[in-house]
Order: sequence, then structure tokens, then C-alpha cells
Amino acid sequence: MSLEKTFAMIKPDAVAGNNAGKILARIEAEGFRIVALKKHQMTKAEAEGFYAEHAARGFFPALVSYMISGPIYVMVLEREDAVAHWRLVMGATDPAKADAGTIRKEFGQSIEANAAHGSAVPADAAREVTYFFSQSDLI
Ligand code: UDP
Ligand code: MG
Repeated sequence: MSLEKTFAMIKPDAVAGNNAGKILARIEAEGFRIVALKKHQMTKAEAEGFYAEHAARGFFPALVSYMISGPIYVMVLEREDAVAHWRLVMGATDPAKADAGTIRKEFGQSIEANAAHGSAVPADAAREVTYFFSQSDLI
């Protein structure tokens, strides 16, 4: 297997709840290398663009409001099988359905405020990385 990159976020509820450090520690414990990391306040347009695939869904306006309710951490993570492994570590979208030991089970508040984001597939990861980072940020 070869090294792969994924895009991850620590979402507003986890940052506001002072859980970002614990989530970063878990990321390192899982063997990810943090390639890029910054704290960021998304604009409404940025959040709408990031979640454009969900624009027709009923939850979209609330999701956008939540995602701009406070700062997030955006990052690029590298590991073998990074995309799938980060999804596994995060757990199911709904914290109530997430497995014990996952980040969303431990830190998520609701299906909306669920602590973390991870790219679904490698093609999404490539697009999401360039949404927030330029090539020179990846070190
Ligand atoms: N979301 C929501 N209500 C739903 C489904 C999703 O508020 O019924 C939010 C939640 O924050 C989720 C994000 O929209 O993480 C993107 O949804 P997706 O289905 O892509 O889940 P993910 O890939 O984040 O697990
Ligand atoms: Mg998704």
C-alpha cells in the first residue's frame, strides 16, 4: 500500500467545546502525519460551496449556519489508506449510531454538530484539500 492524503475538519462544536486538542492527539495516535493545519472561520459562501453536493437537502440551510457558527480546524492528513481510515476513526454521521471509540461517538452532539469531517473518497479529498490549501502549504 502507498501513502494517501485525506482532508479533515474539526467542526465548530468540537472547537467550541475545547476538544480540538484531544482530536488532534487521536489523529497522531492513529498514525496520521499532519501535512497541513490551520484554524479557519468559514464564510457563508465558502460553506455553501464546500457542501454543494447537499444543496437540495432539507438540512442544508441549518448545516451552513452551523458550519459558520464559529471557527473550525482544517487539515490535510497522510497515512496508508488515509481516506477510509479517517472515516473509520470518525464513525457514522449520526453520533447516536456511531461505534464506541469513534470521534463522533465521543465528541459529537447531534447528526448536524458531529465534531468532524472527512472526505468520502480520494477524488473528494483532492478537491477539498485545494478548497482550503495551496500546494506550498503541504509540507
Ligand atoms: N448532516 C445533517 N443532517 C443530516 C445529514 C447530514 O445536518 O441528516 C450534516 C452533518 O454535519 C454531516 C454533513 O451534513 O456531517 C454532511 O453530510 P454527509 O451525509 O456527507 O455526512 P458525512 O460525510 O459528514 O458523514
Ligand atoms: Mg460526506
